[in-house]
Amino acid sequence: MHKRRAFWRNLTRATANDAMRVGVIGGGQLGRMMGLAGLPLGLDFVFLDPADAPCAAAVGKHICAPFDDSSAIRSLAQQCDVLTFEFENASADSLFSSSNVPVWPGKSALLAAQERAVEKSLFERSGIPVAPWRSVDSQQELDRAIEDLGFPLIAKTRRLGYDGKGQQRIRAREDADALFDAMGGVGLLVERLVSFDMELSVIGARSANGDLVVYPLTRNEHRHGILHRSQTVRVARELQRQAVRHLRTLTMALDYVGVIAIEFFATKDLLLGNEFAPRVHNSGHWTQDGAPYSQFENHLRAVCGLPLGRLDSHLHSGMLNLIGRMPQASEVLSLPNTFLHDYAKAPRAGRKLGHINCTAKDESHISPALDALERALGESPGAA
Ligand code: AMP
Repeated sequence: MHKRRAFWRNLTRATANDAMRVGVIGGGQLGRMMGLAGLPLGLDFVFLDPADAPCAAAVGKHICAPFDDSSAIRSLAQQCDVLTFEFENASADSLFSSSNVPVWPGKSALLAAQERAVEKSLFERSGIPVAPWRSVDSQQELDRAIEDLGFPLIAKTRRLGYDGKGQQRIRAREDADALFDAMGGVGLLVERLVSFDMELSVIGARSANGDLVVYPLTRNEHRHGILHRSQTVRVARELQRQAVRHLRTLTMALDYVGVIAIEFFATKDLLLGNEFAPRVHNSGHWTQDGAPYSQFENHLRAVCGLPLGRLDSHLHSGMLNLIGRMPQASEVLSLPNTFLHDYAKAPRAGRKLGHINCTAKDESHISPALDALERALGESPGAA
């Protein structure tokens, strides 16, 4: 605790006199957008990424090394005042044992987000309801889980799953035959497939002194397991209260510093926790144009020990991911209240290349605006 206080004092001094430097594990679009938000605050950035020219290198220095390269992480830490990460599969062991400066959000948050069973137990301990689940490490355990939970189920690899990868639905007995080996013979989490009205996420930022700011709930639509579009949504006050309570208890349990996103399955009156991300999140990209302070800025404020940006007002907002191909900029820029974010990445099928935000004073204008954007880009509007 003592060490922590001294650290914050030093940081305050550093920002008053010279640029504070933030080291980021990962140099993808999230790192790039962090850099874009942090440069006006007088922050400097160094990104560690194994790619030759990651897109974040446009806004900071780049160390080209594998994510778990301890000596590269040591060198990153030596150049920086604080470290953070833009994805949850960073190696916790290498990162936390190699850094002599603070790493936020902390180790327990990173470890929990890397293993679905640890994550679900943490949700339960934090009072966040979840779908009934079992952790299984063999076909026999999988068969037993099916007996306990019934159908339909979804099996997910406990580690390294993202964007719907490493998942299999089990609707009947025969779907489960030899499934454990078919999914790679690795640890699985098996859970009840629940019915829900919509998928929501809540994003908040917590500072080291426990201040918490919370963005409005966001409704998310996925296609092929990847976030397709999101929009801010006004929900029943009770759901909003549950989301804020869950955010508060989870971040307190983790002694969390930085931006966090929790994803929920929502019915009319209940939020079930699905997963959380200990980082800035795709469903919060609308905050760049629809909130007084973006999730990227508030993440940096939190990890650098600066005051959080208050979120007293926001515009209703939507976000459409640009996956696989980019539109002509002029097609988008001619539209009112529409904001293009190009990650400057080479196009590839299934790759997130950019996104478009749109804002409106009236919530009912957002869905039609996103539909119109999709049509203009040659896609068929709505969820898959
Ligand atoms: P995940 O990787 O856990 O976010 O799962 C990817 C997507 O699969 C989610 O966004 C949901 O659409 C769906 N899904 C995952 N788990 C469940 C569940 N227990 N019940 C219903 N749908 C689910």
